[in-house]
Amino acid sequence: MSVLVERDHIGIFGRMNVGKSSVMNLLTQQETSIIDPTPGTTSDTKYALSEIHCVGPVKIYDTAGVDEPSLLGDKKRKKVFNDIKECDLALIMINPAFIEFKSEEGLIKKARELDKQILIIYNIFNDDDGKKIRECEQKNPVLRFCKKITLKANDERYRKELIDFIIANFKSKNQKHELFPFLEKDEYYVLIIPMDAETPPGRYLRPQAMSEEYITRNWAYPVSFRLDLGKARSEINEEREFEEKRFNSFLNDFKKRPKAMITDSQAMDIMNRWCPEDIMLTTFSITMINYISRGKLKEFIEGINTLKNLKSGDRVLVVEACNHSRIGEDIGTVQIPNYFKKHFKGIVLEHNFGREFQENENLRRYKLIIHCGGCMISSQKLLARIHELEAVGIPFTNYGLFLAYLQGREALNKVIKPWNLC
Ligand code: SF4
Repeated sequence: MSVLVERDHIGIFGRMNVGKSSVMNLLTQQETSIIDPTPGTTSDTKYALSEIHCVGPVKIYDTAGVDEPSLLGDKKRKKVFNDIKECDLALIMINPAFIEFKSEEGLIKKARELDKQILIIYNIFNDDDGKKIRECEQKNPVLRFCKKITLKANDERYRKELIDFIIANFKSKNQKHELFPFLEKDEYYVLIIPMDAETPPGRYLRPQAMSEEYITRNWAYPVSFRLDLGKARSEINEEREFEEKRFNSFLNDFKKRPKAMITDSQAMDIMNRWCPEDIMLTTFSITMINYISRGKLKEFIEGINTLKNLKSGDRVLVVEACNHSRIGEDIGTVQIPNYFKKHFKGIVLEHNFGREFQENENLRRYKLIIHCGGCMISSQKLLARIHELEAVGIPFTNYGLFLAYLQGREALNKVIKPWNLC
């Protein structure tokens, strides 16, 4: 799945055995989720990618019931409440035959706090249940203020009604963001790609592939340059000069000057010196964090100022949104720690790898978060992280900005200039 496909995230929430998996199957038109009267059949969130006519591409979350007792139930609840953070629309499923609605109130409260859109689905298991809706709304006035539909979730004839209800009431707030807002048609853009032990054979990394595709799609010309970082940084003069000469000869072969270079962040020490003044320079990491965060690069730039105020003993969290194999001179585990040892003595570095993020309370322990480009997670997931960080007031920045900052203020200004933020 390309992350260039922006999807609305629709979560189905409610208690056990309320028909959430049936609604998942109604929406996806197939048996995506197992349906069984056994309480707790959905033990973990199930995801489905789908296309809903007039809504567009969506990711649907079928979540576990929030009323399961036991320690395992607590874990499931935590996961469900985390899922709400990533959804644009929360479908709250209710069986009107229930006599109290604490669980539903909890879900609605959380979704409201997070400014999520909410729709109520009353699932009717027998004909009398429909008559109980009014009673349930009297008991819980909050339900009166939400748009609702009544259906039988295990009857596929309700599919169209449900989809029409979603189309009529859900307004997508996902605005499309451009990968390179500064791109101009008919211009050349150079992708600086050092290939090392971590580079997978047979394909570009996602930020590189996305950049190439975006530039081509927009009628401009991507040109790649494989930089030999070992030679470019070599202590042997001949090797260093050879690599620089090879780069300059590549550049001189253009009849028309390239408009910008997009470099792997780890090559900033080289590209800051080699990229001529008349050509813009930025990094893949900065490009991705701006794109996935839907234009919040400014907030990541503000976070970089925290580096000046760090004191010995402060904690900094290095965050990577995936679990790629870490070999060789890995940025997160080798290069950034080495830079800290050299430039920020006494700072305690910790890591958070993968798709799960720290709890709010844990986040308070850190003075700064340094996040990777985030190319393997959705905008909703990254925005949920930003929301958590802003809630506890922890500044955050990004790998590309950090590695440019280490080269000096001018280098930092250079890589943010294409984004009109300096
Ligand atoms: S999610 Fe982060 S660490 Fe993983 S490949 Fe993308 S930028 Fe790199």
